[in-house]
Amino acid sequence: MEILDGKKIKDEILDELRNEVNNMQEKPTLVVVQVGNNEASNVYIKQKAKMARYVGYQFHHIKLDDTITEEELLYEIDKLNKDKSVHGILVQMPLPSQINTYKVQNAVLPEKDVDGLSDINTGKLFHGKDALYSCTPFGVMELLKRYKINVVGKNVVVVGRSNLVGKPMATMLINEGATVTICHSKTNDLPKYTFNADILIVAVGKPKLITADMVKDGAVVIDVGINRLENRLCGDVDYENVLPKCSYITPVPGGVGQMTVAMLGKNVLKAYKIQKEK
Ligand code: NDP
Repeated sequence: MEILDGKKIKDEILDELRNEVNNMQEKPTLVVVQVGNNEASNVYIKQKAKMARYVGYQFHHIKLDDTITEEELLYEIDKLNKDKSVHGILVQMPLPSQINTYKVQNAVLPEKDVDGLSDINTGKLFHGKDALYSCTPFGVMELLKRYKINVVGKNVVVVGRSNLVGKPMATMLINEGATVTICHSKTNDLPKYTFNADILIVAVGKPKLITADMVKDGAVVIDVGINRLENRLCGDVDYENVLPKCSYITPVPGGVGQMTVAMLGKNVLKAYKIQKEK
């Protein structure tokens, strides 16, 4: 059994980016737009700022009041879209209820959409074209690649079908040649599917949803979930009991979450290059 060390791989990726950015005259700029003061968002933005500083990007954090209207937020995004010194725009989720998240995600110019959530970027992923991809599933693919875990022909089960993780995850895997099953809250007999997985990817948000009896011996287990239980972070997998059964497993924290930040770093440089090539 080997632990997939997201922190180690993140550090490798950030060093690669840092070397490249170090040789660039102009430094790519990432802007994070936050609406309100969500505590978890504050933590995530701090991690993004730290990543950006380490790599050598310019980083700006725009914090807007949670009473802002949708129109006002769209106006702010439009200003950033038009600003040639801004290369990556990330609108931190969640947004307050008066704002239509889908509309906001599609307001960001596709070439600045470092979260990879606009229709253009998700559509390109669907077509197997190069694009800015959603950071978390992209990070899972990169983690598998760097540990030389081949997905071609593998039976991969993805639990969760969100637009942020489950759906793009399944699409990336199909594009790479895996045989993919997607499970969700309406799936009857979840263990029947998870038990057949060579690679099991779980993105639900329920602590210990996946227990040892649901996992095949020697499976690769990727835990995307982030939950707070008794004041500690944990994933969706009963880590201690699943660990002895699998060939590889990601810890929480220290697994996929680290990769998400690393892939944001990759997307910022990619966005910059796309804009310069235009
Ligand atoms: P969503 O709430 O958007 O989606 C959860 C998915 O899980 C839904 O498709 C839902 O099904 C499914 N689900 C719910 N209950 C069950 C169940 N009992 N059995 C099977 N499937 C179920 O969450 P996200 O995709 O945004 O995030 C999932 C988890 O990953 C969260 O813990 C989140 O914090 C974490 N996360 C971690 C990231 C990281 O960097 N590590 C980044 C993003 C998210 P249905 O569609 O039918 O409702």
